[in-house]
Formats: sequence, C-alpha cells, structure tokens
Amino acid sequence: MGSGPAGLTAAIYTARANLHPLVIEGEPSSDSDQPGGQLMLTTEVENYPGFEDGIMGPELMARFRGQAARFGAGYLTAKASRVDFSARPFGIWVGDPEAPEPTYRARSVIVATGARSLMLGLPSEARLLGHGVSTCATCDGFFFRGQHIAVVGGGDSAMEEAIFLTKFGERVTVIHRRKELRASKIMQDRAFRNPKIDFRWDSVVTEILGDGAVSGVRLRDVSSGDESTLDLGGLFVAIGHAPNTDLFAGQLDMDQNGYITTHDGSRTSVEGVFASGDVQDSVYRQAVTAAGSGCMAAIDAERWLEAADHAAEQARAQS
Ligand code: NAP
Repeated sequence: MGSGPAGLTAAIYTARANLHPLVIEGEPSSDSDQPGGQLMLTTEVENYPGFEDGIMGPELMARFRGQAARFGAGYLTAKASRVDFSARPFGIWVGDPEAPEPTYRARSVIVATGARSLMLGLPSEARLLGHGVSTCATCDGFFFRGQHIAVVGGGDSAMEEAIFLTKFGERVTVIHRRKELRASKIMQDRAFRNPKIDFRWDSVVTEILGDGAVSGVRLRDVSSGDESTLDLGGLFVAIGHAPNTDLFAGQLDMDQNGYITTHDGSRTSVEGVFASGDVQDSVYRQAVTAAGSGCMAAIDAERWLEAADHAAEQARAQS
C-alpha cells in the first residue's frame, strides 16, 4: 500500500521474487498523499544516488514505477478505504468501506503510505511548491546558496532546518506565530547563538510572493495587525509532519505521533504486516532511506511467507 520510494521498491523486490504484488498506489489529488508520494511535489532531486546530474522528482518516481511493472507488479490507482488485519488472509477494501467482503485479500501486506508535511494552506504556497517553497532543507537547501531564506515554524524541525540552511543562505529568518519557540531548549540555544539566524516573532505568512519563483512573503504581525513584506529567495515550511496512518488506527501499534512502530526490521505488531518508509520513520525522511526500508520490508515479507508455507507443509505432512 503506497507508491512512493518505499512502496515501489518493495514492489520491485517482491515482483522479482515472484510474489505477484499489487500496488495500491493512491489516486491523484491536490494532497501530498498522491501516487508517487512526496517526490511528485519536488522539482530537482540531487541527492538520490545514481543520478550524477540530478533528476526531477516525478521522473524518478516514473522510473521506480516502470521498473516494478517490468517485473510484473500490478497497479491499482485508488485509495484503500478500509483494512482488516485481524485475520489472514488480510482484507483490503477499495471503494465502499461498508461492503461485506473486502475487495482484495492478501497473504501479506507492506504498508508504505508515507507521511505528509503540514502546510500553511495558502494558494500561493501550492503554486510555488518546488519553485522556492520547500518542506525539506536537506533536499533543497543547496539551491539557495547566498540567498535570504526564511523558515516558518517554532518547533525542533524549524530550528533544525534553519540551522542547516545557514550553510547555504547568507541569512535565515525564522518566522514564528508566537513570541516563544516550541523547540527544545538545546535547539533554541543553538538557533539563538547562530549569527546568521534572526527571528520574526508573532508573525504569520499571509501570502508568498513571486511568479515562477519565490521573491518574498507578505507577513502579518498578529499582535499589532501590521502588514509587511520580506524579500526572500526561498521559504521552508517546517510546521510538522503527519503520517498517513488513519486507516490503520486500532489495528497496528503506533507511537504517540501516529507513526507505525516496527521491530526486527520492518515487522509491525501484526504478523505478516510490514511497514516501510516515512509511515514508520519520523527521523530521516529521505527518498533513499525510504527505498532502503521498502527493500527491507520486501525481504522480510518474502521470508515470512516462505516460513509460513514451510510450516503449513509440515503440518500437512504430520496430519
Ligand atoms: P511541532 O513540535 O509540532 O512544531 C510545529 C511548529 O509549527 C510549532 O512551533 C507551531 O506553532 C508551528 N505551527 C503549526 N502549525 C502552524 C501554522 N499553521 N502556521 C504557523 N505555524 C504553525 O513539529 P516539529 O517541529 O516537526 O516536531 C515534531 C516532533 O519531532 C517533536 O516532538 C520534536 O521534538 C521532534 N523533532 C526533534 C528534532 C531534534 O531533536 N533534533 C528534530 C525535529 C523534530 P506553535 O508553537 O504556536 O504551536
């Protein structure tokens, strides 16, 4: 389930192992949980190994998809509406979640439904995403060398992004809607000590300016109501992430932030269900780590299925 780097890598491996995977890839929408995952919202990807000159995010995902198809992976362009992991084979519903029978039954499921960056929700943000608006400093910081960059948010992610971005930007402004940061003390201290970082307190972004690329933002001071503009080369939105795990509530163990917990590689709390990629990783969140974890889940699923077949054969022989 899922068609970002984790799901499609799992599809490549399980297809090559003759396990006949079906990829439930999601459906196109304006959300970040569309088929292909978050890379579909990215422009140039320069840190995915093997592409010396970089590659566009959507093209990279098209290549992943084609590679899995070449080995026989099937695709369903739809979203699952319900799962039942209480009995095997596992049930997956597409369409009416109240239908008495699941649409699909699977001997094993790899959950790779990803996570989404929380966004400000401005039309200009959607228009300029990948054109100066980013949600990943590790991915895109490099493109803003020597420029004035801003980061929205006051948590640990925002501080981490701001500190990282000082390697590239000539100045980094943190825009926060309150007067106090939510970030841990140590991250606050690091940010306050960094001479390249300054803060715009009590401020919210009301519009991101620029035609084909970001040129600045319009800000509103929430205490005085004053409006101002800030010239920028790039804007990083770092107001948190949410894993796409609503479907699995009550069926798979999750941490307090809703990420699926895994153990012994990619195993979840349900035997035969595996999880990979950002849906179980709130730390690294990179295409390459998601792909690696999709490979782990495929190998874990393959071995688990083999062991289950072996156990069934032995039981038959004994009876
Ligand atoms: P977070 O702690 O939820 O912080 C989100 C920040 O964004 C808050 O400052 C919040 O403002 C602001 N915000 C939320 N919605 C907004 C909106 N619509 N407009 C403007 N601002 C908005 O999220 P996070 O920073 O991603 O951290 C998530 C978890 O991961 C935390 O437990 C964090 O400690 C952990 N983490 C740790 C590290 C590290 O230790 N190196 C790094 C990254 C993340 P308010 O403060 O006003 O609510």
